[in-house]
Amino acid sequence: MMLIAKGQDQDQVQAKVIVTVVVLCLGIVMLFFLLNYSNVVVSDEIMSYDGNNYLEVEEEDQEYEDEQEEEMEEQIGDEDDDQEECSSSLPVILTNPDVLDCPICFVALTAPVFQCNNGHIACSNCCCKIRNVCPSCSLSIGSNRCRAIENVLESIEISCKNIKYGCKKTTSYNKKHEHELMCIHEPCSCPHLGCDFVASSKQLYMHSYRAHTYSAISFSYDSTFSVPVTNGMEYAVLRESTDKTLFVLNYAVQSIGNVASITCISPSSVKKGFSYELVAQKRDSKIKLESFTECMPRWSKYVPHGEFLLVPSDFLESQFLLVRIQKGAQ
Ligand SMILES: [Zn+2]
Ligand SMILES: [Zn+2]
Ligand SMILES: [Zn+2]
Ligand SMILES: [Zn+2]
Repeated sequence: MMLIAKGQDQDQVQAKVIVTVVVLCLGIVMLFFLLNYSNVVVSDEIMSYDGNNYLEVEEEDQEYEDEQEEEMEEQIGDEDDDQEECSSSLPVILTNPDVLDCPICFVALTAPVFQCNNGHIACSNCCCKIRNVCPSCSLSIGSNRCRAIENVLESIEISCKNIKYGCKKTTSYNKKHEHELMCIHEPCSCPHLGCDFVASSKQLYMHSYRAHTYSAISFSYDSTFSVPVTNGMEYAVLRESTDKTLFVLNYAVQSIGNVASITCISPSSVKKGFSYELVAQKRDSKIKLESFTECMPRWSKYVPHGEFLLVPSDFLESQFLLVRIQKGAQ
């Protein structure tokens, strides 16, 4: 009985051991799956259960994410630049630039701009000239500012109209007129009658040198030279070689005698002219004018005005005038 009982106890013990081993094995297998499953959750990306592949995928993903981040940073950088440009300026095409000119005097508008109750606008100068009566509708104008158009004028950046003659200046529309009055790149017209060439003053000199080589008199500052004058003559072009500047000797026959003066072909912003001497001689007598050249970009047929040398008709025996032009004040 004892043996049998002992044999039964041994069987029970063996059975418990087997059950325990099986449970342990099952536990290990479940743990294995749980671990793998937990990896999938943590990566949130993995498509394979294979440990090695998972790592490779993670590395590739990391590289891809790095590239994406770099691209994003570049894009963000570009967008920042674009945003900077966008926030500071906006290219605009003005199909009719005249809308920014005063409709009365046609000069570029500058603040203050006034409007009548019907919305017609006028610059401040014109408001005075029209005695504060709107020329379009007869309502009062001159007390209500048009702030909207003043803001537009302030915010528009515009190139100088002389850009094709070498001026690189850009100004707010408000300052456009002011700058263009002072612009040293204002184009000048060829003074040779019948020629319509227009260019910067230096280009004009080169044009005169090439196209009218023998129709102008070359000279240098501070030296006296003679210019032949004849009845019926209206002008003579003078070409200064060191400074590459053109001058015109104006000449006109009037009832009281012959009149002569000198004009410099230059932008009207050049306020101070060149000093010059004009001398007419008759035997031992001479008549002399000391003056300053007038500066103008577009010379046209001379109408005597301002200062000029008046030479009595019978005085010009020698048929020439002596000319001396100096740079700067006399
Ligand atoms: Zn006006
Ligand atoms: Zn009006
Ligand atoms: Zn300019
Ligand atoms: Zn010409």
